[in-house]
Amino acid sequence: MRGLDKAKQMLVARRRTLEKRLPEQLIEARDAREAQPAVEDESVDREIVDRLSALTAAEQHEVQEIDAALFRIENHTYGQCERCGSAIGRGRLQALPETRFCIECSDQARKGRS
Ligand SMILES: [Zn+2]
Repeated sequence: MRGLDKAKQMLVARRRTLEKRLPEQLIEARDAREAQPAVEDESVDREIVDRLSALTAAEQHEVQEIDAALFRIENHTYGQCERCGSAIGRGRLQALPETRFCIECSDQARKGRS
């Protein structure tokens, strides 16, 4: 499939951007901690861990999706819908390189099955 290298480059670059953002959030959490010096250390540490995981939950998910997409590139299944098996449109892959579903399946999932 043509454009696979480009997709891989985009995914790797996106992953790097996400990883770079993590330390900033760590610093923010630490600043928030210093603004509340009265709280006991141990509980605040736990709070920071909680807050950090909350802050980065969406990003952690995105990193997982990117890793899964890179795995599919290695296994030559990239660009193939995981639900119906048809090819995902090139425009969609360019806009959303980590997607695992074609536009039809994605629309159906968004509308919900209930
Ligand atoms: Zn599909």
